[in-house]
Amino acid sequence: CGIVGVLSNNEAAPQLVEALKRLEYRGYDSAGIATVHEKRLDRRREVGKLVNLSDKLVHEPLAGKVGIGHTRWATHGAPSVGNAHPHRAGRVAVVHNGIIENYRELRAELAELGVPFQTETDTETVALLCEHYLATGLGPQDAATATIARLEGAFALCFIFDGEEDLLIAARLGSPLAIGHGDGEMFIGSDAIALAPMTNRITYLEEGDRAEITRAGATIYDHSGTLANREIREVNLAH
Ligand code: GLU
Repeated sequence: CGIVGVLSNNEAAPQLVEALKRLEYRGYDSAGIATVHEKRLDRRREVGKLVNLSDKLVHEPLAGKVGIGHTRWATHGAPSVGNAHPHRAGRVAVVHNGIIENYRELRAELAELGVPFQTETDTETVALLCEHYLATGLGPQDAATATIARLEGAFALCFIFDGEEDLLIAARLGSPLAIGHGDGEMFIGSDAIALAPMTNRITYLEEGDRAEITRAGATIYDHSGTLANREIREVNLAH
């Protein structure tokens, strides 16, 4: 129900939890974050309020300066730690708002290839499909593009990858996403209000957009794959 992402110069975990708190008003049943640290992807998830996730992070901290976070409102699969986002498959972790309408077909296709499933969610299919494309030899950008092209429904997605500490990939089709421009840092949120403590310089993705984000900035492609020019606005996010 809420998505955040950071390519920070500071520790990502506290920033992600703080940003998720600003989306709490939307309601959720579980929450989680994933980071890449020393090239390795790792994650923490918890059911219930964000304070449960924060408590878990005290005992099991998550280092790293790149990360994604999520508050979930379950649509497919019960609210549980195992069904909470980020979903991970091999080298990729993904957070998702919305519904992947054709996940059953994609699941059947992956099952034919012998891919095992761990959850009941539509979102896990996205992670598994992306890992499948990575395993065919595609790089993260191409694997994410190939994955997004297969998805039907209304969604916002954000991906991070093992070994990639300067890359976030995001896509919007029916659920909003805002990119925040910092000073040598970049942020993403399903609502720009999540980014208020970090920046007020915002680019709103349009329907069908896909963004490749590094600390140097965001490269945005429209629904046809053409490079798109999306303006950076100074937004009043004071709340
Ligand atoms: N359909 C996904 C799930 O059930 C995402 C729900 C959401 O937007 O939070 O996990």
